[in-house]
Amino acid sequence: MRAKVDADVCTGCELCTQTCPEIFFMQGDVAVAKNIEVPSEQEDACRQAAEECPVEAIIIEE
Ligand code: SF4
Repeated sequence: MRAKVDADVCTGCELCTQTCPEIFFMQGDVAVAKNIEVPSEQEDACRQAAEECPVEAIIIEE
């Protein structure tokens, strides 16, 4: 699976970067997701980050 952040929607709250720092990092005022296949051991944290994003800016592609 891969994750993406919709930069037009992200408010930069940094929650995802705390929940799943292996995948999400801040770039200026918005979070971005590493453009990699999410390692299996990070999948749960990545899904949790997507579920908890207050503005649903995280897109998971299976
Ligand atoms: S949790 Fe959502 S709004 Fe907050 S930084 Fe991550 S993608 Fe942006």
